[in-house]
Amino acid sequence: MGMFTRVNRFLLQHSLRKRKIPLKLWHQTIATLPMMQRYTNTERMHLRLLASRILNQKIITPVKGFKLTESIQVTIATQAAILVFGLEHPEQDMSLPWLRNWRQILVYPTPFHNGRQTTFSEKGLPASWGGFESGETHYQGGIIINWQDDQPHPLRRHANQVLLHEMAHKLDMLDGDTNGHPPLHANMNQQIWFDVFSVAFEQLTIQLEHGIKPAINPYAATDPAEFFAVTTEYFFEAPQTLQRALPDVYRQLSLFYRQDPLRMVTLK
Ligand SMILES: [Zn+2]
Repeated sequence: MGMFTRVNRFLLQHSLRKRKIPLKLWHQTIATLPMMQRYTNTERMHLRLLASRILNQKIITPVKGFKLTESIQVTIATQAAILVFGLEHPEQDMSLPWLRNWRQILVYPTPFHNGRQTTFSEKGLPASWGGFESGETHYQGGIIINWQDDQPHPLRRHANQVLLHEMAHKLDMLDGDTNGHPPLHANMNQQIWFDVFSVAFEQLTIQLEHGIKPAINPYAATDPAEFFAVTTEYFFEAPQTLQRALPDVYRQLSLFYRQDPLRMVTLK
């Protein structure tokens, strides 16, 4: 890239750092995000502060010629803020401890090839997926998403929140393993979490083996880590679907994320 572009990009990224998201830009952005509509005005003030902190501390990097605008940066930071709304309290702790294990979000314009081969288990379920990805997360390193799948959209056939999905993997990794088990709060019961998620995962696997169309994205059957990430997408984007299909999973996610999107939906 040329010098001029590099300077422009620096200025663009710098202008949103070290301060609050400008009010006009904030209002324009949240008007496009269906998930924002469930929050009250007070909660939105909290989310604006949280999104501003995220922009201050994280780096959003465009790749493959993606044109990153201020509005897109604010959209991405706001999606991230929604995920950790119940977990982080930026007015008390500015370090964002739940987001401590990553620093960068790489944004591709469209889905990208992961350079792997697809393999299947003996039961015919996907074991390793090779092909085009919406997003990717590694234990060490940042989060990769593509804007085509992450931009604000009406609800599709499946809940589709690629940033929330990849961030759920990062939360899952906070306790060392990527196994669908993030560090739980003191008021939560480890055994209940384990039982609820194991039963739901097993049921989904059985449905797929019998050719039954599941209520949620069958990609969740890949492994328990993907199950947690996919149900997180539903929890935020399609809470009614998740609550109807898997009420116990919905309840556990509600305890973990310290939010109840369904209660908030009826708030309006
Ligand atoms: Zn995943």
